[in-house]
Amino acid sequence: MTSVSIHDTGALFQIAEPTDQRRAQRRPGRGIGIDLGTTNSLVALAPHGAAPRVLRDSSGSGLVPSVVAYTADPPLVGRAAQALQAEHPAQVVSSVKRLMGRGLADITFAHPYHLSEETPGLLRLDIGSADAPRRVTPTEVSAAILRELKLRAEAELGEPCDGAVITVPAYFDDAQRQATRDAGRIAGLQVYRLLAEPTAAALAYGLDRGGEGLFAVYDLGGGTFDVSILRLHKGVFQVLATGGDSALGGDDFDRALAAHLLKKSGVAEPSRHQLDGARLAARAAKERLTEETVTRVTLAGLPELELTRGEFEALIEPLAQRTLRACRQALKDAGLRAPELDGVVLVGGSTRVPKVRELVAEAFKRPPLADIDPDEVVAWGAAIQADILSGSAREGVTLLDVVPLSLGLETMGGIVEKIIPRNATIPIAARQVFTNYAEHQTGMVIHVVQGERELARDCRSLARFDLKGIPRLPPSMARVEVTFQLDADALLTVSARELMTGVRQSVEVKPTYGLSEEEVDRLVMDSLDHAGDDYARRNAAEARVELGRVVLALRTALAEVGHLRELLPDDERARLEAALAAADAAMADPDALADPLNRARTALEKVSEPFARRRMERALNAGMAGKSLHDIERALADDEALHEKRAGHTPELLEPEEP
Ligand code: ADP
Ligand code: MG
Repeated sequence: MTSVSIHDTGALFQIAEPTDQRRAQRRPGRGIGIDLGTTNSLVALAPHGAAPRVLRDSSGSGLVPSVVAYTADPPLVGRAAQALQAEHPAQVVSSVKRLMGRGLADITFAHPYHLSEETPGLLRLDIGSADAPRRVTPTEVSAAILRELKLRAEAELGEPCDGAVITVPAYFDDAQRQATRDAGRIAGLQVYRLLAEPTAAALAYGLDRGGEGLFAVYDLGGGTFDVSILRLHKGVFQVLATGGDSALGGDDFDRALAAHLLKKSGVAEPSRHQLDGARLAARAAKERLTEETVTRVTLAGLPELELTRGEFEALIEPLAQRTLRACRQALKDAGLRAPELDGVVLVGGSTRVPKVRELVAEAFKRPPLADIDPDEVVAWGAAIQADILSGSAREGVTLLDVVPLSLGLETMGGIVEKIIPRNATIPIAARQVFTNYAEHQTGMVIHVVQGERELARDCRSLARFDLKGIPRLPPSMARVEVTFQLDADALLTVSARELMTGVRQSVEVKPTYGLSEEEVDRLVMDSLDHAGDDYARRNAAEARVELGRVVLALRTALAEVGHLRELLPDDERARLEAALAAADAAMADPDALADPLNRARTALEKVSEPFARRRMERALNAGMAGKSLHDIERALADDEALHEKRAGHTPELLEPEEP
């Protein structure tokens, strides 16, 4: 097989936002925002332009630990799962975000799981027990978390949510994004958009309002540290640089403090059990020291200790300094100095630690923005974006995101030809024409890679497919046009076609990593099977909304017409009132299923039909009084013209030039 060589370079094309049509079908205010975190996840709502609100459980906590326990079917999620972790370490999965979209070769960090890889790039975790072996993919584990968040939102909304914006780290590549999107689908969510976490945080602070600016987002969570430098230009956020440490976070603070506490207690060689206990105690003490300057700690079986904030700060200072080094590097990568920034945003639970804030302020030479709870700020931004995408009007907001890593093709000699450059705003499509290298070549290998490096072997391989049936032509005569299309989530579709013969041959690929389309579909079906109850509840909620709408409309109409007998004779009014009373009765049962609610609505619609017709006729007569036939015809024609214009508006920039 021979690779392709480059013939000429196509321009970049911007395509129309493809969501317009879908958006029209959505009901405003029902899009949810999800921060799918490594340690904790959150769901927030910001309906109809309202301020975002994180949804909480009965104890007031908005954080759902990103932990899934396969000790039950369906699995347990969140605090309940966390409680089982010590007892069933093999069946309780945490920090699954680190495994998303990865293959075995990518897993170079320590983890407690039994992993296997059936097809390249698709991990499975062994979560079965001795008597019931069972394996799940990281995508399914994430889907379980998303399902829990979706249920929380629906309980709050009292009706099904339409879809979600899910945040991902800025550095997530296409495989990791695809896996996240699949997880959303399996959870029964329509994923409107994947949004970079730092962009979400910036949106939450309304930093997009000014349209221009330079910002740093400092995100210190439980197990990871990320820093991003964003440029807002003409209302579009671009990630100029990212940096961080995928193994540095609040957990390290806990470990350092636990070791200190054990030493202070004179325990030289702690048992595994003692270590675990000390870590839990350390975490709680650490969090208390955010508010207090001194606290008391008791380790099991040992005398009580006193711990000061100063002691804790001395322990974590070297760790915090490491994050600052990454910040300085990111600034350097972006070609900026701290004073040039317009703001610094704090994200992540560990930025609550006063010492961390102090050091960040020093490093960036300004007090960071911390008005919004750093645990919640990413979910806020996601909720705002979800509200926009579900059709609510918000003023002056950013819809666009950028490509995190360049996308290209491998050409002769293993060299990468970049087709969509890093930081291009999306959605975007680009095409380029390639040609054959060898004579009598009848096939080409299309190898799609992502990354900034020059050689394909240093980039991430996304997909590989053959384009066959190319006519036998001398070198450089065959013309193969390759089109890259990135949708609004930075997900890629690649197609290739041979132009020389005029035959429109085109091959579409989905990246070869992760779950196959069929597998995702199967999992979606599975989740529907399991979700029989969810489904019934969803239908009931929808039926309730519809019935409520009809009741309200009728009550309003009744109030308007008063006792106009020509519109509503007494006997008809009596039947209508009876049907309304029946509807009220059906809705009074909070557990009512869809059937009785729908029956009540049908009955109501039936008895009110003559009344509706009379009102319609009256309105029409009133509306046309005083207008000439000509006026009316013209109004109708205008309407039609408008209609046609809309129907004709389709993105069309991808047609190849005609031969
Ligand atoms: P992730 O982004 O990894 O999901 P989070 O942003 O939720 O993580 O951060 C979790 C970390 O924040 C934990 O290490 C937790 O102990 C720490 N944390 C939460 N609240 C506080 C607090 N009040 N003081 C100090 N650390 C805190
Ligand atoms: Mg986080």
